[in-house]
Amino acid sequence: MSKMNTPFLVSGAGIGGLAAALALARKGFDVEVIEQAEEIREIGAGIQFGPNGFRMMERLGLLDAADHLAVFPDDLILMDSVTSKEVTRIPVGEDFRKRFHYPYALIHRSDLHSVLLKAVEETGKVRIHPGQCLERFNDNGESVTVETQQGSRFEGAALIGADGLWSKVRTALVGDGKPRISGHIAYRAVLQIADVPEEYRKNAMILWAGPKNHLVQYPLRGGELFNLVAVFHSDRYNEGWNSEGDAQELYKRFEGACDTVQTLLRKIQTWRMWVLCDREPIKEWSHGRVTLLGDAAHPMLQYLAQGACMAIEDAVTLAEMIGTGNDVANAFRCYQNARYLRTGRCQLTARLYGEFYHADGVRRELRNIMLSGRTPAQSFE
Ligand code: FAD
Repeated sequence: MSKMNTPFLVSGAGIGGLAAALALARKGFDVEVIEQAEEIREIGAGIQFGPNGFRMMERLGLLDAADHLAVFPDDLILMDSVTSKEVTRIPVGEDFRKRFHYPYALIHRSDLHSVLLKAVEETGKVRIHPGQCLERFNDNGESVTVETQQGSRFEGAALIGADGLWSKVRTALVGDGKPRISGHIAYRAVLQIADVPEEYRKNAMILWAGPKNHLVQYPLRGGELFNLVAVFHSDRYNEGWNSEGDAQELYKRFEGACDTVQTLLRKIQTWRMWVLCDREPIKEWSHGRVTLLGDAAHPMLQYLAQGACMAIEDAVTLAEMIGTGNDVANAFRCYQNARYLRTGRCQLTARLYGEFYHADGVRRELRNIMLSGRTPAQSFE
């Protein structure tokens, strides 16, 4: 594709949108990013970042920057939150790194976002327009125009909808209604490490699995901060995204949990709450000169910790397909065809992991026995 046909338009300056802008700029294209928020920033919470995320950061020329920000845990540990016993652990130290060629890390979302933003700005090829909410777009076959709620108009060679779970671009392009409300609620908070009792400070991602709930804890930002994510089942909420959570409800949902979990939950007064949603995987999310990326294309529950990693993989793949000189509509189709099975697998596997973490009764017993390397018969020996 001729570089004269740019700019590319990207709606959304989240991790996916910025990664797409950067990947395209690295290929020599100009990009205009339209972001509804007045300020370009991420929420203050942690993110688990797998080796596949680091591989993509390397492709974007950001491996060192990502390395500097991360905490590298020794283990991923699954605890039974009722008995307070360890069920299993996956060491993610040197051997893991050798096997997968890249590390497993814990990163503050806003740090990851800032690294992407700085790199985007340094390219000199990307213009970001905050406070511009995409309202509608038109693909006339030669170019795409975008109109915003604020009355601005943008024109470009193509549009990439990286506008997240509630994507307006998806609504127009795919038209498959609202996301699926999972019935799971997440409360998130970040503490100063000084506020966490010493015995709870481990260099690990620890998941306390309880019936119909779980709590995740891990250190962030060189160990200065401590990230907590509490998830429970509830049909009380229909919608809610980064709104204020009710601590009393949280305590009630975790009533049966062990002392460690109770203590950690009570360290926090102010929680942010997310009603967790996803969608059925789809095969087609590109049409003509318009495509989707990240949560707009394949929103998934967070139980695999892969949503942001998948968005960055999308961005790198998309730019590769465009960079090969493909006609833009064809490049978008090739990108979607290269991605839908991998992202669909994450969407579906994440649901299974959710069931697994929240197992109750016999399911919980079987999970614990089998993960600890025993068979059900051996558990009576
Ligand atoms: P978003 O981050 O949602 O960004 C979309 C952007 O588009 C926003 O800036 C928004 O303001 C903007 N926008 C929306 N509508 C418009 C519009 N009409 N016009 C202009 N701009 C618009 N992933 C991991 O890889 N590891 C993890 O450990 C992990 N943990 C998670 C924990 C929780 C509790 C949750 C909820 C998610 C987690 N994820 C994790 C998933 C990850 O956060 C998302 O998959 C990722 O942020 C998606 O990025 P995105 O850029 O596609 O969308």
